[in-house]
Amino acid sequence: MMSSIEYIESVYQKLEKRDSHQKEFLQAIKEFFNTIQPAIEKNPEIIKWNLLEQIVEPERIFSFRVPWLDDQQNVQVNKGFRVQFNSAMGPYKGGLRFHPTVNESILKFLGFEQTFKNSLTGLPIGGGKGGADFDPKGKSETEIMRFCQSYMTELQKYIGPATDIPAGDIGVGKREIGYLYGQYKRLNGAHSGVLTGKPILLNGSLARTEATGYGLIYYTEEMLQANGKSFQGQQVVISGSGNVAIYAAMKAQEYGATVVAVSDSNGYIYDSNGIDLLLLKEIKEVRRGRLTEYAKEKELSTYQEGSVWDLETAYDIALPCATQNEIDRYQAATLIKNGVYCVSEGANMPSSIEAIELYQENNLLYGPSKAANAGGVATSTLEMAQNAQHSHWSFEQVDVELKKIMINIFKQVEDTCVEYDLGRNYLAGVNIHSFLTVAEAMISQGVV
Ligand code: GLU
Repeated sequence: MMSSIEYIESVYQKLEKRDSHQKEFLQAIKEFFNTIQPAIEKNPEIIKWNLLEQIVEPERIFSFRVPWLDDQQNVQVNKGFRVQFNSAMGPYKGGLRFHPTVNESILKFLGFEQTFKNSLTGLPIGGGKGGADFDPKGKSETEIMRFCQSYMTELQKYIGPATDIPAGDIGVGKREIGYLYGQYKRLNGAHSGVLTGKPILLNGSLARTEATGYGLIYYTEEMLQANGKSFQGQQVVISGSGNVAIYAAMKAQEYGATVVAVSDSNGYIYDSNGIDLLLLKEIKEVRRGRLTEYAKEKELSTYQEGSVWDLETAYDIALPCATQNEIDRYQAATLIKNGVYCVSEGANMPSSIEAIELYQENNLLYGPSKAANAGGVATSTLEMAQNAQHSHWSFEQVDVELKKIMINIFKQVEDTCVEYDLGRNYLAGVNIHSFLTVAEAMISQGVV
């Protein structure tokens, strides 16, 4: 029989050949494979059932044409997708991303990570992801509505409240979910359980908008406390200014931290006295504006074009909440020079493999995205529970459940680190624990 190292290597090489152009997907697999060898060593049935080769291949992918009329009555065409990655733990669950960079590689990496993230929540959900290469930037409300309607006209064939339940991701918030749901309902009748992240009036859940950001802080605070630290009195930099970043910033501030910088895709604002989060929220959520507006209104703040991870100043905690690969090895080195001792991820795969290596060499406290940002999808599942019960829970009730789930995820990671003698290698703890959960569920269901 092959050794576990040879087995991992052979599966990776095969995949690299088959999907050679899928850079982000291969990166997600590589990061995962770098850590799971001890789990395979202890569980020989993984090799017996050739589980790795099964787990890296999505169950199916739909890709389709999305034609729509712009405001000038021109026909525009985008490419839409849904990746149904793994249903071993339950129905496919995962968001939809509308962004010009969306392609099969990005959605496969996201679907792969979603599968393991979802298993960490302890709730019965498999992994999926979808979206389109549509750029919502600069589009009118009616264009966004027509795009969502056309996208759902095709997507509705593949989803259902018991099979595949999409939600939001980058470029897809409550407004888009409302339009998507309206179209689903026109075609199939009312099944509010088919999408999560819905507006409250359409049977959405309270606290879903806040959940990913809040969950990130609950998880990170738990990790900090396990290491004799806390958010209290810390200087924090957060990238992004969407839902995840805004509510992470609010909760971090509530926990006694000062958020000194946030960013958008063009640049960042810095204020050593702390960002005015109510103004930020108003600019982003109400005006749908840019951060340059914030700098104009707050004289003490400075606006700088470029990545916030190039900022050279002393601070303590970095929370990347923008997008994949936003921190490369040079930026990771800058963080470490700045004195950052903790990086915890609100975005999916925001750190490159080289950046993670640097965090580990320098003993940083690291919250990998699969665990640290699982609060969003966990709360989506609480929304499914409410829809199934035809009931609404209070904000506090949802928030209490969310916090319990995040604390429990960290506990599972810690226990796995003890069991496998991993020290503070939380990345290996996250990957091994979630891998073994999904693997066991797959093995117990047999091979077709
Ligand atoms: N897009 C989010 C994620 O990356 C949430 C998915 C969901 O709520 O289903 O986990």
